Amino acid sequence: MHCKIQKVNLEEQHIRYLSDLATNETAVIIKIKGYGAFRKRIREMGFVRGTAIKVIKKAPLQDPIEYELMGHRVSLRTSEAQLIEIATPEDFQRADTQTHIDISCREDVKQQKKNFSKTIQVALVGNPNCGKTSIFNQITGKHERVGNYSGVTVGAKTANFNLQDYTIELTDLPGTYSISEYSPEELFVREHLSEKLPDVVINVVDASNLERNLFLTTQLIDMNIRVIIALNMYDELLKKGDRLDYHYLSKLIGIPIVPTVATNAKGIGTLLDKVIDVFEETETTRHIHISYGNDINSSIQRIKAAVKKHDTINDSLHSQFVAIKLLEDDKTFKEHIRSFDNSQEIITIAQEEVQRLEREHNTKTETLITDAKYAFIRGALKETYTSSSIQKEPKGYKADALLTHRWLGIPLFVLFMWAMFHLTFSLGSYPMTWIENGVDALRMLTQNSMQEGMLCDLLVDGIIGGVGGVIVFLPNILILFFCISLMEDTGYMARAAFIMDKIMHSIGLHGKSFIPMLMGFGCNVPAIMATRTLDSKKDRLLTILIIPFMSCSARLPVYILFISAFFVQYQSLILLSLYLFGILLAALMAIIFKKLFFKKADVPFVMELPPYRMPTLRNIGSHTWNKSVQYLTKMGTVILVASILLWALGYFPREEVNELASKQVEEVENLHIDKLYSSFDTSQFKNSEANQLENSYLGRLGHFVEPAIAPLGFDWKIGISVITGMFAKELVVSSMGVLYRSPDDESEISSHNLTEKLHQQRYETGVKKGEKIFTPLLAYSFMLFILLYFPCVAVFAAIRHEVGLRWAIFSAFYTTALAWIVAYIVYNVGSIFL
Ligand code: GDP
Ligand code: MG
Repeated sequence: MHCKIQKVNLEEQHIRYLSDLATNETAVIIKIKGYGAFRKRIREMGFVRGTAIKVIKKAPLQDPIEYELMGHRVSLRTSEAQLIEIATPEDFQRADTQTHIDISCREDVKQQKKNFSKTIQVALVGNPNCGKTSIFNQITGKHERVGNYSGVTVGAKTANFNLQDYTIELTDLPGTYSISEYSPEELFVREHLSEKLPDVVINVVDASNLERNLFLTTQLIDMNIRVIIALNMYDELLKKGDRLDYHYLSKLIGIPIVPTVATNAKGIGTLLDKVIDVFEETETTRHIHISYGNDINSSIQRIKAAVKKHDTINDSLHSQFVAIKLLEDDKTFKEHIRSFDNSQEIITIAQEEVQRLEREHNTKTETLITDAKYAFIRGALKETYTSSSIQKEPKGYKADALLTHRWLGIPLFVLFMWAMFHLTFSLGSYPMTWIENGVDALRMLTQNSMQEGMLCDLLVDGIIGGVGGVIVFLPNILILFFCISLMEDTGYMARAAFIMDKIMHSIGLHGKSFIPMLMGFGCNVPAIMATRTLDSKKDRLLTILIIPFMSCSARLPVYILFISAFFVQYQSLILLSLYLFGILLAALMAIIFKKLFFKKADVPFVMELPPYRMPTLRNIGSHTWNKSVQYLTKMGTVILVASILLWALGYFPREEVNELASKQVEEVENLHIDKLYSSFDTSQFKNSEANQLENSYLGRLGHFVEPAIAPLGFDWKIGISVITGMFAKELVVSSMGVLYRSPDDESEISSHNLTEKLHQQRYETGVKKGEKIFTPLLAYSFMLFILLYFPCVAVFAAIRHEVGLRWAIFSAFYTTALAWIVAYIVYNVGSIFL
């Protein structure tokens, strides 16, 4: 193996770096090397081309160094200063003889750029035989040997040439399939990219073999360097009759793409223009992150956090790249890391994460990451690439022939969804009754074994009642999460998002938003947690804002009560209409919010298509378990606090009421006059529970809100049920059970009983005094109100946790306002016709 690495001789080209500057010396900034966060931060500090900079002093150990630029002082580490290219003010001015430059004036920087000859370092990176050397020869006019067999040469050829006002230093690197540690070529390319830090990388891609070639591209994306794709051998692609929407592909992956044919120099001019555009940042590129899925991503984040503690590696290597490489267990990279002060911590964390992932997935992390990268590529190509010949799906993708089939895809998807919900509710109903009975038994046991009093009431009604009401949903939640984990782990979930993408786009959302929305029908809380899979913040927020309109299973008891009480015919149709109304309103609100809050044009995201995989029981088990624990802790804590609060609101103030009631009863009974006794309706005092509720804080709240809800035809009792419903919507029914208990009815109220009671309710005050409250029309508008208003405290907490308090408050207000408006319109317009 002979090496012919042509070292870039810095002396010869008079390139000086900021770190070379002596104390009190002044210079002008020419170029910032390095990538990503470092570049961004340093530019924000004012380090832009043409700015004058002066060394004030160096720290005792020569590090850090204090500089003055644009009238303020900053301090940089030597390692950072080494990435900033400078020139003396004289050189800078001499190079620009036409215009006078005021070197401290940033506005003129653009103008200066045009007039100062500059060096752009460009590297050609790509698979073997994709045409790198051909492109190199076309550009430089050299005659390097084409047909580079991998493994023969490990070296780079460099040539300088002038283009417009620039000197371009073009380097042809050896061909590699990947930037890992397996071959000398790969290591060589990696080192060139991380040490020479070329300004722009041209990723040469063989258009006739996109899937394999783009793998390297995904690694360049991880490295967060400035890349342009030369879509070479474009003639071959056209000859095959294939089509590639490379404009859209370019948008998806955030990299400019120029089709080229190196053998006849087609596209080479455009390619070079793009190099300058990207260097000058006149071409806006977007740095995307490849989505590795929640599991791997949380590992990446953890390692990244540790890596970021050591600032200097950020300078030349993007922390995302470092984290991924460490997760892949890249040996050479670990050696590389050893020189950093917290290397031990980083490596320990990385090892923990590798072990965790390998245990959970039963595969090497490297395979997991490779799979995720191919999933990204498959997804991107599925949307942009059409092959002329019918290709057989490769291994791991065979099921796509059926599951993403043009005609069969959607019916199959609907079938799976139906099966999932059917399983959730039918299978879940058995353990649900067991738990219900268990909670009842516990309640009885507590009641019997404890002394009557406040503590007993708190335990029985507040804690056991409140938390028990949530625990009963546990089986359903477990089954739902099991189905979802199964779909995620087999790879079907990605296809579901893919299938729904078109429809979701019509309301301004992404295909991936569909899954959380669907989950919302079970319970809004896990649905809001599931939005974490969405790549864009905007999509997440938008999805979170409309999820509350997906009618969750806790609202069902309310519908069932009112539909069975007020609608004899078309019951299921009415139920369906409520669900549909929620969906339509969600779609409408998505469109409106998009117009209001997110005016900027959409950036498209790749929808990953991972290979199908037979999931392990352990894997699904742990995913189901993790999700359930998350759900339960959220519900457990929030609901516990809420049910105690609700109980207290309904329980207090106490003595006052008791005294009053008992005194009145006493008085009446003391009269001993039969006539008077019978004219008195003592029954109202006997129903002390309902009476207590009316006089409690909760009851007062009900009276307090009455004026606000009176236009909807709601009285104070409905007001109370609406307030309790804020804690959990199924409580609407139970609070009505207490409120509508008839005076002489001491037994627990049954649902049949409650239905009758609803029919008997009459207005106590107002213009409609004496009229029946509940009509079918009011029942319907009430159900709409319950569907739409304030989601419930657990959802509020979930939204706060995911996107912050401000949005949680916003969500609470706009849903309630919307509920009021809808109920008002339905009730009042309906009253005209009915
Ligand atoms: P390298 O290994 O990436 O340096 O690739 P080479 O430049 O050595 O090219 C490999 C082979 O592909 C050579 O035989 C080239 O003539 C051929 N080639 C390069 N670019 C193109 C192109 O755009 N179209 C076609 N049809 N052939 C090309
Ligand atoms: Mg070559």
